[in-house]
Amino acid sequence: MRKRVRSVRDSAEMTKRVVVVLTMLVACMSGPMVLGQDRAPPGAVPVTAELEPTIRSLLHAIEILSDYSAPAALPSVFRLPQSLLEAKVCEEPCSVTAAYLPREGVYLAENLDPERDPQDSAVLLHELVHYLQQGHPKFAHMSSCQREKTKEQEAYAIQNAYLAMIGSGKRAVFYDGEFDCPDEQTAGSR
Ligand SMILES: [Zn+2]
Repeated sequence: MRKRVRSVRDSAEMTKRVVVVLTMLVACMSGPMVLGQDRAPPGAVPVTAELEPTIRSLLHAIEILSDYSAPAALPSVFRLPQSLLEAKVCEEPCSVTAAYLPREGVYLAENLDPERDPQDSAVLLHELVHYLQQGHPKFAHMSSCQREKTKEQEAYAIQNAYLAMIGSGKRAVFYDGEFDCPDEQTAGSR
């Protein structure tokens, strides 16, 4: 009798597991297509609501420091472990602490504290600049290499203007070595 009860429980357990696995499979298969506002990818925690006052004040700072105007809609912002962030945006281990991915949102390494640490809020501001750059017509005529390089230069410039504005002596340094773009003038003649 006891054995029978256990086997009934086991089969219920098994059914539960199958359902869980199936749910995970469906979530994987429909991955990026259902990735709407705040739908977190595996390992990431949505923090848009939690950080909303910070995000809005940083967007306002960008409007003061540049020609961008921020839409009412906020990008999705996720927090995730450093290792998962690296796996998401780098081909090998790297020291990335934040990234903006079009159609997904902003990813922040979980050790960042943009609500309290001015350097970290400047990092989030940098990614919010990328959010505002996305699809902007001023980049439309550029080659993809030139476009990415120009976007980075601008994001660093606004990040550093923000650091100056809040009285921080620190500056973010842009290493443009990874953007070895062919010269726009001579590219066609080669
Ligand atoms: Zn950047």
